[in-house]
Amino acid sequence: MNRATQLADIQSRIAAACSKAGRPGSAVKLLAVSKTFPLSDILEFHSCGQTSFGENYLQEALDKITQLADHPNAQTTGTHIDWHFIGPIQSNKTKPIAENFSWVHSVDRLKIAQRLSDQRPANLPPLNVLVQINTSGEDSKSGVNPDQAIDLCMAIQGMKNLALRGLMTIPSNTDNTDQLKIEFLKCKSVFDALNVQGLKLDTLSMGMSADLELAIECGSSCVRVGSALFGARDYSK
Ligand SMILES: *Cc1c(COP(=O)(O)O)cnc(C)c1O
Repeated sequence: MNRATQLADIQSRIAAACSKAGRPGSAVKLLAVSKTFPLSDILEFHSCGQTSFGENYLQEALDKITQLADHPNAQTTGTHIDWHFIGPIQSNKTKPIAENFSWVHSVDRLKIAQRLSDQRPANLPPLNVLVQINTSGEDSKSGVNPDQAIDLCMAIQGMKNLALRGLMTIPSNTDNTDQLKIEFLKCKSVFDALNVQGLKLDTLSMGMSADLELAIECGSSCVRVGSALFGARDYSK
């Protein structure tokens, strides 16, 4: 399959899920998750109209961002990519994130948010931030507990160089649709509760290749799709 067809396939899965849920197709954005895949693959999707790409591993992402800046074709065509950081964040790595990304989906502690705000360069627009919610209750999972989301969100809202846009969750690693649905709906209910409290959140990042339809049914406005676009990942390389 060529890139345009792969992209159109995912767009039509999104459109079908939106229509089934009685939501407009424009309600859900596609984030292409490019971890482990080279810049050349990203540029192929970019030439088909995909502009937002998500990366999990900081060094790998920075390598691609540097390659893009040095890429002769990308330079002449003025290729612009919106880079989203979606992986775990170590506090000593916040500076390059603040400098190179336009979105961060995985903020789950105050210290990280404060550092991102302090380190966001003044010539860039505020960094768009999502707070990651631990909806599975597993201790091993990143994310703030749902009952702590309000305090963290309120604190972030007061930070000068961050724009709090919403929430993100990664549910349990299971095929059990009922369980996934409980977790997605948990995140949606936290999202709604925060908006009732006066926050103006517009982005709910949930759903991946295997479960994007369910996530859209549960209110997702941003699906993060990797393998269904790029193919299976090979971590041995
Ligand atoms: C890898 C990854 C994805 C994409 O997963 P696929 O199943 O390949 O679509 C989405 N979100 C996060 C946080 C990821 O790490």
